[in-house]
Amino acid sequence: MQTQILGFPRIGANRELKKACEAYWKGTISLSELKQAGKEERLKNWTFQKEKGVDLIPSNDFSFYDQVADLAYMFGVIPSRFQFLQEELSPEDLYFSMCRGYQKNGNDVVPLEMTKWFDTNYHYLVPEFEKNQNFFLNGNKIIDEFKEALDAGIKTKPVLLGPISFLKLGKEKQDDFNRLELAHTLLPVYIELIGKLENVGVDCIQIDEPCLVTDLDDYERKLYRVILTELFGSFPGIKFVLATYFESIENEANWLKKLPLEVLHLDLVRAPEQLDVFIEDLPSTLSLSLGIVNGRNIWKNNLESSQILVKKALLKLGSERIILAPSCSLLHVPYDLENEKDENGLPAFVKGQMAFAKQKVDELFLLKRLLTESADEKDLQILRDNVESFSEWRNHKEVNRQEVKCKVLEVSRIWNEISRDSSFSERIEKQQARLNLPFFPSTMIGSLPQTNELRKMRRSSLKNEISKVEYERFINKSIEEAIRWQEEVGVDVLVHGEFERNDMVEFFGERLSGFAFTQNGWVQSYGSRGVKPPVIYGDVFRKEPMTVDVSVYAQSLTDKPVKGMLTGPITILQWSFVREDQPRKSTALQIALAIRDEVLELEENGISIIQIDEPALREGLPIKKAKQGEYLNWAVTSFKLSNWGVKDETQIHTHMCYAEFNDIISSIIDMDADVISIETSRSQMELLDVFAKVQYPNHIGPGVYDIHSPRIPSVTEMTDLLFAASKYLPSDNIWVNPDCGLKTRGWEETRKSIENMIESTKQMRAAIPHVVN
Ligand code: GLN
Ligand code: ZN
Repeated sequence: MQTQILGFPRIGANRELKKACEAYWKGTISLSELKQAGKEERLKNWTFQKEKGVDLIPSNDFSFYDQVADLAYMFGVIPSRFQFLQEELSPEDLYFSMCRGYQKNGNDVVPLEMTKWFDTNYHYLVPEFEKNQNFFLNGNKIIDEFKEALDAGIKTKPVLLGPISFLKLGKEKQDDFNRLELAHTLLPVYIELIGKLENVGVDCIQIDEPCLVTDLDDYERKLYRVILTELFGSFPGIKFVLATYFESIENEANWLKKLPLEVLHLDLVRAPEQLDVFIEDLPSTLSLSLGIVNGRNIWKNNLESSQILVKKALLKLGSERIILAPSCSLLHVPYDLENEKDENGLPAFVKGQMAFAKQKVDELFLLKRLLTESADEKDLQILRDNVESFSEWRNHKEVNRQEVKCKVLEVSRIWNEISRDSSFSERIEKQQARLNLPFFPSTMIGSLPQTNELRKMRRSSLKNEISKVEYERFINKSIEEAIRWQEEVGVDVLVHGEFERNDMVEFFGERLSGFAFTQNGWVQSYGSRGVKPPVIYGDVFRKEPMTVDVSVYAQSLTDKPVKGMLTGPITILQWSFVREDQPRKSTALQIALAIRDEVLELEENGISIIQIDEPALREGLPIKKAKQGEYLNWAVTSFKLSNWGVKDETQIHTHMCYAEFNDIISSIIDMDADVISIETSRSQMELLDVFAKVQYPNHIGPGVYDIHSPRIPSVTEMTDLLFAASKYLPSDNIWVNPDCGLKTRGWEETRKSIENMIESTKQMRAAIPHVVN
């Protein structure tokens, strides 16, 4: 029985690579220093795995930015807008300009688009394919990394994203072709590359084809079969590992079993049921890699259930044909639980139930010893403790709270009754009578620029260098300035600015029961950016008001409405590491009830508009279409539950910072928010098409100001956008707002942009006279 790792985290246990990249971009370290930093991180990872005894250790799982961008660069898929830079820049800088854009000497080249890697929080860069795309080998990254490991005495298994996933994850630059047609011109370049790898001594290669888990049509299935058969068939001397993850591939089992392939990797954490199909009639030349340790979550392995699963395969295949592995690359979990030393961090009983990347490697070997009967007394004790800890967990009073569970049960019984009391048309009339807003009401999405001074005050307050009172005074001063400024500019519905929040999920997690925080639990989000997701370990409830003070204070400063600002249940769920001892749906409903407590208390305290942000709703959408309906049902109900019971007069807003609504529009209607704000400025409002088609009944604020760059949009530009929007939607339903929060922007550009936005609102009001009914 062998072991393998599909990929190891690469940002560095103490974010060394992040720091090196950022220093290089700033110009404070040289290219060779950056390369050296990368080399050190790779060596640390390989050595660790080698010392543990991992049989198939990955290389080329390292990247300075993103593995998909690496591949695009390596196959010469460099969009023409970057071509003029080829002369000027080093290969590394050209690569970074594809990842980050290039703004120098009057040039402004936009980077590749970034999007979510399946249903994880990792973002990859989207390759752009041309109709007559020319593929060629460009650079030796993958070969060099293999040789580098070999020099250190470690023979690795290079990892490559497969040709079909590479194409599927990209996009076409022109309309009149299908990028999958490029598979036949791409294949020879894969073959050339693998030939070169074989020449330097590679004898095992991992081909990742995660798109195999998506719903394939017949054309795609056939293409997959043809391309993979030819690819694997071209190298009888190489052992190929075909890796799939995040879902089941059982629908593809028949033809996959016939591929000239040595190892097939299954994600048995997400889809344990698929094992049965694969152990049946598996050709004797094919081995299975069983992904039994969760590569996407931070909980320790349930050794008992893992053993049951593996034993089933053992019986059919024997230990020679089984490889133990994590379910997917360990990229999605932090490095090392041992780094969580701080007493103010994780509670001991929570930490005791967790495992990060390094601990997950240990779990593989423990499982192997248990399954091959080579376990010693110490191992058996760990097994007994493991079994016991799972049953103790079930009875832990901080994990499971009867009162919370009862409330969720009650709610589940009246599932279909969870909605507003009256229809939107009745509500909006009462809201309008109360709020008296002008035509084309203007508002902000929530956060306002966070200055260095603010960040410094927050740090000092955390370190107790300044008193709580002093910090609060500073926050209140910032709020007051923000309110005054919005009044002066002429915004209609104000925000307090979210200055007291570092992060929209962390802020609520810190105040709710059932959450814990790591000190160093970083995972890569994109490039050098990491996130440190909160850990939801127990039943969630609201201990005390979280935002009421701040909202009431902000409202006391003005006669205009100030929105109460909350993060929605699905976004809190989606951006955390979530417990696995109950369905995600139950956890979502618990969070929804906690947010609801806050909503009702805000309402009681005179807050007339409450915004509940759900920017992560769409990310949670399951990969398989067959599972999407169920998710959308509980996700929408969680949102509705979070504001269930508010009066008709209270206006509920939501915000989502993307605009891909085509496949979820009926769920968006079902959410029944009075006002939804979305991101649209970069698409010239075309994305409103779907709202027009379904005659979306409620109010919408299509963003008119792209907040992702420091650029200041002109008045005309935004007026044009609003005109465009009014072609799609009834003018009565349109709000005016930026695309998203302004936290990352500077005050200077924000002031000018919002002044322009308000000016264009005024022009709209003058141009489209409002018929008062
Ligand atoms: N209210 C949040 C803000 O303005 C929304 C952020 C988001 O959508 N990601 O910062
Ligand atoms: Zn947003």
